[in-house]
Amino acid sequence: MDWKIQLFKLNYDEREVEAVARVVRSSWLTMGEQTKEFESRFAALLGQGAQATAVSSGTAALHMAMLALGVGPGDEVIVSSLTFIAAVNVVRLVGARAVLADCRSLEDWNIDPADVERKVAAKTRAVIAVHYAGYPCAMDEVEQVCARHRIALVEDSAHAIGATWRGRQCGTFGTVGCFSFFTNKNLSVGEGGMYVARDPEFTRRGRMLRSHGMSTLTLDRHEGRAISYDVLEPGLNYRIDELRAALGLVQLDRLTGANARRGLLVARYHEQIDRIPGVSIPFRRVPPDVKPCYHIYPVLLDRGIDRTKVIAGLRNQGIQSSIHYPAIQRFSAYADTALGATPIANDVSNRELTLPLYPGMADSDVDLVCDALKAALA
Ligand SMILES: *Cc1c(COP(=O)(O)O)cnc(C)c1O
Repeated sequence: MDWKIQLFKLNYDEREVEAVARVVRSSWLTMGEQTKEFESRFAALLGQGAQATAVSSGTAALHMAMLALGVGPGDEVIVSSLTFIAAVNVVRLVGARAVLADCRSLEDWNIDPADVERKVAAKTRAVIAVHYAGYPCAMDEVEQVCARHRIALVEDSAHAIGATWRGRQCGTFGTVGCFSFFTNKNLSVGEGGMYVARDPEFTRRGRMLRSHGMSTLTLDRHEGRAISYDVLEPGLNYRIDELRAALGLVQLDRLTGANARRGLLVARYHEQIDRIPGVSIPFRRVPPDVKPCYHIYPVLLDRGIDRTKVIAGLRNQGIQSSIHYPAIQRFSAYADTALGATPIANDVSNRELTLPLYPGMADSDVDLVCDALKAALA
């Protein structure tokens, strides 16, 4: 398909090309200086004494979080309902039961602490909260409900790279924060992620899980710091490689500027969408002490509008759009699972439409999308 405006475009130039070329020339492809530097600079961005462990994907980070917390058979984990399937899958794969918590309202699609409160059971071990579209959850209320019931908080910060709540970076509130650097995220490396913890014990566990539970790294042996290794506990191979870490470093330099550009585009969208009948905007009023990072641009179509027709209408005008997200209850793998009722999230799943957003988008592209949306609704 030859789109006039794609949903997303990479924010890359020759600097990314050069960063990868430098790694190739160095002949050191995994767990080296680039990875160390990426971790330390990502941790510095986060502050709060957070330590960052670079991994192969956001899903890997979520899986490691469940394993590090010791979540297993008989346990329950409460997950934001309007999200990508990864968090629910990892809960299931460690043998625990995922329970979905609804969105707070048709304006605030983040997890509803009151619904978490209703769904907490004796077996509940953790909450996985997503900062949908890069809009931070109300962290005071989420933290309170977790503290009251002595359950762990894991942040799925895949959308929230650089977003802050009351001056504090998303991903630094939970016991573990999980970031994704998948192609279409605010920081792109292709496949990659970050496991973040403030408690050194959780970092130690994360590092064991990342690399086979081994006591030393290949680099230590290469540099003569160790000749062999022990295996201290069972682990996986969830390592990132140097090429991706090098991409991550360049992308980290661009993050603040890219997020600011996204914010300007979102403001321009808001102004025009406000004037289109039949379309509303979630997270329309963000408190002044909350700084979203605008990962995607979601809108909500009024009841009775045929979304499939709107998507086709946009496509016919060369505009790519998407849906974030289909209801998890509808997926075949979860059709027979009691995930809990989430009427607001399911309503949003039926009516949500995601419009193109990426830092390289021109102001005039926003205008084109809005005009095309008006035409598609007519
Ligand atoms: C992208 C994403 C993930 C998974 O990250 P990967 O790096 O693709 O494994 C998890 N949760 C959310 C909300 C995401 O958007």
